[in-house]
Amino acid sequence: MSNAEQYAQLAAWIREAQYTVVFTGAGASTESGLPDFRSQQGLWKQVPERLASIDTLLNDPDTFYEFYKERFEKFRHVQPNRVHRILARWESQGRVRMIITQNVDGLHRMAGSQEVAELHGNNAQVRCHACGNMFPREIFDRRYCPDCGGMLRPNVVLFGEALPMGEWIKAQQATERADLFVVVGSSLTVYPAARLPEEAAHRGARLVIINQEPTGLDGLADLVCHEKAGDVLEAVDGWLAQA
Ligand code: NAD
Repeated sequence: MSNAEQYAQLAAWIREAQYTVVFTGAGASTESGLPDFRSQQGLWKQVPERLASIDTLLNDPDTFYEFYKERFEKFRHVQPNRVHRILARWESQGRVRMIITQNVDGLHRMAGSQEVAELHGNNAQVRCHACGNMFPREIFDRRYCPDCGGMLRPNVVLFGEALPMGEWIKAQQATERADLFVVVGSSLTVYPAARLPEEAAHRGARLVIINQEPTGLDGLADLVCHEKAGDVLEAVDGWLAQA
């Protein structure tokens, strides 16, 4: 199938679908200037994964704070890109019902998406590891909770931690309802998040994967585009506008 045929096909499926779920990963935000984790330029090629782990927070807090201070700096001025904007518009047009994201950058909401399940939390806030109280990330430099003196940490899921139950249930329910499930910019290697597209396909939803590199679930998908997500969504948006 040519690229143009793929885009037309996806537009047709979006039109037909009763309940479209979009599942995004770091590749949805690379056009905003945030590196992903596992591609050639990815963050984990530069720093080891263990830095963002619960083990480092508890046993090597100086290293943990240095790493996150730098990371917060990168997130400070970041803006949504065409991927986030198009998905937000599709939701307002009734074409997308839920976005399930692994990203912690908050860019889907910033672009206007309302129904978003943030599986790995959100970098906009920090919380106390002891009492759970939330604070704006600007006070992260203080390192200790103003309320109880416990350690401050990003309000994200660290490696070695469980997913937030409420968001997971929301994502799970949307996956059960989905008749079209579109993956955008994820290597589909982080579990349990990556179980959702698998589950959608097994339940009979059409599975579409838009990712620059091949993923382990490509063989299960009804349509695979190894292209830039922004280019694909823009082209599909063009087809949708023609209807
Ligand atoms: P990942 O790095 O494992 O995979 C990203 C994938 O996106 C890669 O396969 C890459 O080829 C693809 N990609 C990159 N740019 C693309 C583009 N413009 N168009 C299409 N595809 C593109 O990331 P993941 O699957 O999201 O998994 C891992 C974890 O990364 C998540 O837990 C998430 O919390 C975290 N993360 C989040 C951010 C963020 O919030 N922006 C950034 C980095 C990592």
